Amino acid sequence: MPGRTISLTVLGSGSCVPRVRRASASYLVQHGETSLLVDMGSGSLRRLVEFGFPWSKLDGVLLTHFHMDHVADLPALLFAFQNAPGLTRQRELLLAGPVGLEGVLHGLADTFGRWVLDPGVPVRMVELPGEDLVLGELEISARPVHHSRNALGYRLEACGRVLTLSGDTGVCDGLVWLARGADVAVFECANADQPPVESHLTPEEAGAVAEEAGVNKLVLSHIYPAGDEVDLVGRARRTFNGEITVAEDLMTIWLSCRF
Ligand SMILES: [Zn+2]
Ligand SMILES: [Zn+2]
Repeated sequence: MPGRTISLTVLGSGSCVPRVRRASASYLVQHGETSLLVDMGSGSLRRLVEFGFPWSKLDGVLLTHFHMDHVADLPALLFAFQNAPGLTRQRELLLAGPVGLEGVLHGLADTFGRWVLDPGVPVRMVELPGEDLVLGELEISARPVHHSRNALGYRLEACGRVLTLSGDTGVCDGLVWLARGADVAVFECANADQPPVESHLTPEEAGAVAEEAGVNKLVLSHIYPAGDEVDLVGRARRTFNGEITVAEDLMTIWLSCRF
C-alpha cells in the first residue's frame, strides 16, 4: 500500500497447540522506520524471517503475559542477538512487559547465562503499566486485562490510527478501554467450544466487547484447533456489526495514516 501506513502482520495466530498452520501468539507492527513485536510465542521468530523481515532490525518487543505460548521465542531472539555472526547493531532494543518481567529475565539468566541480560545490544527493560511509552512515532499504552497475574493488553496509536491487541483475556473493563474507537482490534477467541470462562473470550464475547468499544475491524486470533472447526465470524457477527476477519499466519493488515 502506498503512502504512510501502520501495518499489522500476524506471525502467530495459534495457541499452545503446536501446528503447521498457526504458530503461537505473535504480531509484527510496523510504522515508518519503527517495528515491534507484540508477544513471541514459539514459531514466531521463524515466521518473522519467513515474512522477510530482517529480525535484527526490530526496535522492540512487548509482552502481554508470561504464558509460554506468548514468550517462548524471546530467549531465542536474545540468543540470536548475542551469537549471530556479523551483527553490528548499536541501537537500543525496548523490552516491555508486565510487572515481573525483570524477575523472569533474571531467572532465565540464572539458568542459561548472562547473555539473557546482556545480549550484545543495549536493552531497555520496562515493566508496565506505568509510563506510556513512545517508540518512533508509535504511542504505546498498556492496561491490565483479566487472565493471568499482571497480564496486559496493548493500544498502539500513530498518525491518527489506533491498533489494539488484547493479549489473553476474558471480558473486562481494561479491554474495552484498550479498544475504544480502534481502527483494528486483534482479540483472542481461544474459547470457541466451551461455555464462557473468565480468562478467555468466546467469539460472541469478543464481538460484544468490540461493539461496546466502537471498534471498526475485529480480527479474531489465538485460535485452537477446535476454533477452526466452528464459524468464528458468524458467531462474532451475532454481537458485532463491524468488519470481522479470522487471523491467519503471515496475513498483513494496512492502515493508511490520517495525518
Ligand atoms: Zn495465557
Ligand atoms: Zn495464550
